[in-house]
Amino acid sequence: MTAPAGISPEIEAVLENGLNKTALTCLHCPSRILNPSVGTFVQQEFALPAMTKQKNQIIDEKHELREFWKVKDMFQFENVGFSNTVDGVKYLTCADCEMGPIGWHDLVTKENFIAVSRVRNS
Ligand SMILES: [Zn+2]
Repeated sequence: MTAPAGISPEIEAVLENGLNKTALTCLHCPSRILNPSVGTFVQQEFALPAMTKQKNQIIDEKHELREFWKVKDMFQFENVGFSNTVDGVKYLTCADCEMGPIGWHDLVTKENFIAVSRVRNS
């Protein structure tokens, strides 16, 4: 299987058949968010608020991100927290330390997207 155009070597190193090769954990604590081979790598633009550890506090500052793990069903997560609904989405946070947002949940499609840069491959 060939990788889509524009994939960096860093991303290729954590991909296997387009899925996450290793488990995804929180950047700030050992909490496991996703098991291997559950998230599909996707490239799309989304402006995610800057990270904070304050539960349900969403910072105004947003970062344009392009690389995500798509998780079709919220029940496929090992551990994840959800924020209140903001502008039609719920933000995903670490269930244990509440650091986030690490991604977002689309209320219409029910799909979930985890920012590749906001989790650790372990
Ligand atoms: Zn955590």
